Amino acid sequence: MDISELVKKDCCGCSACMNSCPRDCIKMKPDKEGFLYPSVDEDRCIDCKKCERVCPVLTKRTADNRPKAYIVRNKNAALRKSSTSGGFFAAAAEYVLSEGGCVFGVGFDENFKVRHDVIESIEDITKFNRSKYVQSETGFSYRRVKELLEGGRMVLFSGTPCQVEGLLGFLGRDYEKLYTMDIICKGVPSPKFWKKYLSWHEEKSGRGIREVRFREKTYGYGSTTMRVIYDDGSQYDEPFDVDPMLQFYSKEMISRPSCYNCKAKGKYRRSSFTAGDYWYVSGAAPRMDDGIGVSQVLVNNEHAAAAFEKMRKYLDVEELDFDRDSAINGGMMVSSAKPSPRRDEMFSDLDKLSMDGLQKKYFPSTFKLKNRIKRQLRPVMYRTGLLRIYKKRMRKKQSEKGMKA
Ligand SMILES: Cc1cc2nc3c(=O)[nH]c(=O)nc-3n(C[C@H](O)[C@H](O)[C@H](O)COP(=O)(O)OP(=O)(O)OC[C@H]3O[C@@H](n4cnc5c(N)ncnc54)[C@H](O)[C@@H]3O)c2cc1C
Repeated sequence: MDISELVKKDCCGCSACMNSCPRDCIKMKPDKEGFLYPSVDEDRCIDCKKCERVCPVLTKRTADNRPKAYIVRNKNAALRKSSTSGGFFAAAAEYVLSEGGCVFGVGFDENFKVRHDVIESIEDITKFNRSKYVQSETGFSYRRVKELLEGGRMVLFSGTPCQVEGLLGFLGRDYEKLYTMDIICKGVPSPKFWKKYLSWHEEKSGRGIREVRFREKTYGYGSTTMRVIYDDGSQYDEPFDVDPMLQFYSKEMISRPSCYNCKAKGKYRRSSFTAGDYWYVSGAAPRMDDGIGVSQVLVNNEHAAAAFEKMRKYLDVEELDFDRDSAINGGMMVSSAKPSPRRDEMFSDLDKLSMDGLQKKYFPSTFKLKNRIKRQLRPVMYRTGLLRIYKKRMRKKQSEKGMKA
C-alpha cells in the first residue's frame, strides 16, 4: 500500500507525509466530511517512498517501556483553572520555555480554525491551554520542529497520539532536547462541523465570537460546559447534553474515521509524556479531589523522567500504581471509541440541515421540558454545593466500580 492508497478508515491526517516529501508534491486536502487527506501529484512524484517510511500507519513502531503514573495539579491556581484537567501541559511548557526552548501546541487562529503553532514565551502558554475538540491542522510544524532541534533548541511538541507518532516517524531519530506530550484521546471531530457550529453561533446571536472554551469549569471540573464569549462580552454557557458540538462529539457522530480504528493508542508509548483526565481521583487520591481538576500523567521513559523531576516544582504530585490505577481510567488510552450507527447519516445531512435541524433530528430530547428544567436548576445546585456533592458521589461510585473491574 502507498500513501495515495491509504484508506479513509486508516489515514489519521497527521501530515508527516507532506512534511517529508523532498519534491513537495503532497498536499493535504479536505474530503466531504472536512478531514484532511494527502493528495499526491503523481507527475512530480519520484517514488522515493519517504512518505511511506514516515507514515505512522504504514510503518508502525512500538514501545515497551513501562511508564510511571501520577496524578498532578498545577500549583498555579489560575493556570489550573484555565486548563482542561490539572494543568500538566502548562507545567511542562513552563519548564521547556524557562530552559530557552519552544513549545508546539494547538491553538485557534483569528477565525477559530484549530491548528498547531509554536510559542517562545511563558506569557503565551494560555494560547494552547484547554482542549479543542476539533482535529488540528499540523501544517509544516514537523519541519519547523526539526529545524529548531538541529539549531540546538529544546522543543516540547504536544498533540494527539497520531500527531506525536507522525512527528517521531518524520524525525526518524532521537534528539536529546526533544520532549513530546500526547493526550489520552477519544477522537478528533470534523473541522467542517466545527465551522458550521461557529456560523450557527454568529447567526443565532447576531454577534461575532471573541473566545471559545470547550470545557469551561463553570460548574466545576466534572461538569463540562461549552462557553462562547461574543464580541460584546455577552456569553453562552451550555453543558454537554445541550451544546451541539459537545453532544455530537460525545455521541460519536463527528470524529475522524481513523479515530474509530486508532493505530497510535497503546498502554506503552514512544512519547515522553501522556496526559489525560483522571475521573477516579476521589478513590485513588482523595486529597487531590477539590473539583477544579487533575491530570493523569504517564512518564513514559527515563529521558522524560529526568525532565519530570525538574517540572515537579510547578506541580503537586501523587504517584499512582500504573497497572492498578491507570488501567481503570485507560479506556481511551488503549481502545478506540465505537462510531454511532448514525454517523454516516449525520454527515450526509450536514450540508442539508441547519444546526438546529440536526439537533432536532438527532437529539430531540434537548428540547424536552424535563431537560430545560434540569438546566435551570443547575446553577442553583452549583451555588448550593449540591452539584459538587452529587458529582463527587458519582465519581466515587465509578471509581469503586472500576477498581472491581
Ligand atoms: C480531541 C481530544 C480528545 C481527548 N480525549 C480524552 C479522553 O478521552 N480521555 C482523557 O482522559 N483525556 C482526553 N483528552 C485530554 C484532556 O482533555 C486534556 O487535554 C489533558 O488532560 C491535558 O490537560 P491539561 O490540563 O494538562 O492541559 P491543557 O491546558 O488543557 O492543555 C491542552 C493541551 O492539549 C493540546 N491540544 C488541545 N487541543 C488539541 C487538539 N485538538 N489536538 C491535539 N492536541 C490538542 C494542547 O496543545 C495542549 O498541549 C482529550 C483531548 C483532546 C484535545
